[in-house]
Amino acid sequence: MTLPALLSQPLKMLIDGEWVTGHSGARMDVINPSNGQVLVQESLGGAREVDLAVQAARRAFESGPWARMRPAERTRLLLKLADALEQNGDELALLETLNTGKPLKMARAFDIGMAAECLRYNAGWATKLSGETRNVSLPGDWHAYTLREPVGVVGLIVPWNVPLAMAVSKISPALAAGCTVVLKPAELTPLTALRLGELIQAIGFPPGVVNIVTGLGHEAGQAIVDHPGVDKISFTGSTVVGKSLLASAAGNLKRVALELGGKSPVFIFADADLDRAMDAAARGIFGNTGQVCAAGSRLFVHRSVADRVIEGIVQRARALRVAPGLSPECDIGPVISARQRERVMGYIDSGRAEGAEVVTGGEALQGEGFFVQPTVLVNTRPDMKVVREEIFGPVLSTQLFDDDSLEQLAARGNDTEYGLSSSIWTRDLRTAHQMARRLRAGNVRVNAAAALDFAMPFGGYKQSGWGRENGREGVEAYTELKSVAIDLN
Ligand code: NAP
Ligand code: MG
Repeated sequence: MTLPALLSQPLKMLIDGEWVTGHSGARMDVINPSNGQVLVQESLGGAREVDLAVQAARRAFESGPWARMRPAERTRLLLKLADALEQNGDELALLETLNTGKPLKMARAFDIGMAAECLRYNAGWATKLSGETRNVSLPGDWHAYTLREPVGVVGLIVPWNVPLAMAVSKISPALAAGCTVVLKPAELTPLTALRLGELIQAIGFPPGVVNIVTGLGHEAGQAIVDHPGVDKISFTGSTVVGKSLLASAAGNLKRVALELGGKSPVFIFADADLDRAMDAAARGIFGNTGQVCAAGSRLFVHRSVADRVIEGIVQRARALRVAPGLSPECDIGPVISARQRERVMGYIDSGRAEGAEVVTGGEALQGEGFFVQPTVLVNTRPDMKVVREEIFGPVLSTQLFDDDSLEQLAARGNDTEYGLSSSIWTRDLRTAHQMARRLRAGNVRVNAAAALDFAMPFGGYKQSGWGRENGREGVEAYTELKSVAIDLN
């Protein structure tokens, strides 16, 4: 295997079209979670790098080629970037797998494929965003209309579970809307974001339109949130950090979009296509080693089919090969870090201590890398930590239901601080629609394993977030609306 050129020297940051090192000289190792080895070092930026990046983004926003660029030209640049992602897809997938441990095939098909599709979807919005004329009832003769304008300089803060696709899912609508950006990748996973930066440069985006500052959350991330020159923050990550950002963003009343955690319920009714439901339930919690905000982590299954369904999911869990991402044998890679492995194991232990039974998995694998077995817990109760808190690992908790009314069942599903996603498996239309209405979650899937499409808004109710990504709403989130009223008298 030839290593990508990016790894041949310490990583730099992209500020104002130049590759630079943080002025403090501080660096951190970037680790391969499949074997715990160092891949390369990244530069740790702080307030000074963020300030330079924000100034560059401001200049690019207010003057220069980007500010004058017609929407159709922005579309073309975004489409070119999508093509470049695909042309460099094998290398990007390799970087993503080295940095996250996810199976290489998955990185290539899903992570890189999704990122390219996301760019293409949003590229089209550059020419389609628009205001409206309004019929006003003011005395006299008026011409009144709204204008949609880019919000300005946006700070994009992303996590480590789907590094490239998350970065692109924020960059694409922001650029389509005409904003300029400062991106901070997660400290654990800077590789694909920096390679993306190289491609952005090569394609010819003007300097300062996309800046990438690597560094720690409480330093570089916090500096972005504190900076008075940033007009909006779009953050994906933990609910704890999401809440803490609000106070800092209050300084200049930045717009804030938050895509946070989840504890999403999956309901399997007795009349469901059980084989498909079991496949989807297993994939929904074990895919990406459970490190997915919309993971279906709470299973509710009807008592009459519970033995069969739980046994089916357990068999699927046992059949999954836990291995390094580069191994052709890999179905499930490691979790992202030793710390995340401890966190996941801590939850499994707390489940055991509170009386849950581990029917499969439940152990970390010895040796190199941060591996955890796919785990299924039964006899879980709604008050247990494993049922209440987001684990962000391959751990499914299961609960049974009898002939509860749909109202009671939905209330059990809604008994959580979160409200990101939910799945319903039934052949009964009435059950499907009634449950879909009652669930307090931003996303409902019916008889569907995965339903992520860039045309569909994605985001959370309750403590799963603020705002929506994707769809028209996702691009409009990077705009301000201006009302213009002209007195024609
Ligand atoms: P996190 O701390 O919320 O990290 C998300 C992003 O925010 C990272 O880029 C992080 O930088 C940055 N950040 C951290 N503190 C910040 C601050 N004070 N100001 C500005 N930015 C800041 O999440 P994590 O620690 O990586 O993961 C912890 C848990 O969060 C997981 O176990 C999981 O439960 C949840 N999580 C949810 C999602 C999701 O998609 N909803 C994604 C990831 C994690 P650093 O990387 O440098 O910390
Ligand atoms: Mg963190």
